[in-house]
Amino acid sequence: MRPDDLPRHLSEDDELPDDFGTRPGDTLTFGSGSYIRAVSANEAHRFMQRPDPEAVARAWAASAPQPVEALGGQSAPRGLGRLLPTGWRRGARQPAAIPAPIPSPAAVPAARLTIELVPATSWYHNVRALVDEQTWDRIRRKVYRQAGYRCELCGGRGPAHPVECHEVWRYDDQTRTQTLVGMIALCPACHQVKHLGLANVRGKGAEARAHLLRVNGWTPEQADAHIEQAFQVWERRSQGPWTLDLDGLRADVLGGEYPRIARLAAIPPERRDTIGS
Ligand SMILES: [Zn+2]
Repeated sequence: MRPDDLPRHLSEDDELPDDFGTRPGDTLTFGSGSYIRAVSANEAHRFMQRPDPEAVARAWAASAPQPVEALGGQSAPRGLGRLLPTGWRRGARQPAAIPAPIPSPAAVPAARLTIELVPATSWYHNVRALVDEQTWDRIRRKVYRQAGYRCELCGGRGPAHPVECHEVWRYDDQTRTQTLVGMIALCPACHQVKHLGLANVRGKGAEARAHLLRVNGWTPEQADAHIEQAFQVWERRSQGPWTLDLDGLRADVLGGEYPRIARLAAIPPERRDTIGS
């Protein structure tokens, strides 16, 4: 077998070759905690795919026959969407000066729910992967309790389990520092939107996009612009390593635990297993 025919087993730190997935057995390994560890080449390719508009329409129709009432039964107006000029929301009075095919990032209004793609170079670099299971359970249960077991973005709850714990990070592109801002409770549907790349891998991209439209009251064009922008930022941020700032975790872990976690965070994820915990 020639070297060109050998399958490639890549991890989150590897650059994905353009022809990745063309050889039988190509595998990409990534994720954290109980998330996906290894995906096939086809699945890896789907990570970067934008949802298919027709599939979005189908997911929308299936999941939201009555979009307004579907918002967790809340009587409140539809969030920031109601602040948009009506004509613009319908795309009818969009100024001609704005190029139509690719909406500029500025065209995306502030929103309740946004996509937060973790840079590929930071996969495994998260609280869930750095603390032991017992500590993670304690942290996430506290987050759930404080949120009243409701999604902090849409007020909804998941059918199988009400909420999940989402780590919120701030990325300083100058210093390449990734700072833990906090942790919030999200319903599974909102959490899926946060990690749209992973949703794509799982074949849930269209479902996630439909939820993004619904929660923000966005038009498909506004959602497209936001998705495009999120993946552009992700690609740029995935080009180099990030230093973790876990100071925000101090309040949530026992005193003696923090130095160990901070030391572990300084070790590149792929070398962590060999060093042990
Ligand atoms: Zn939600």
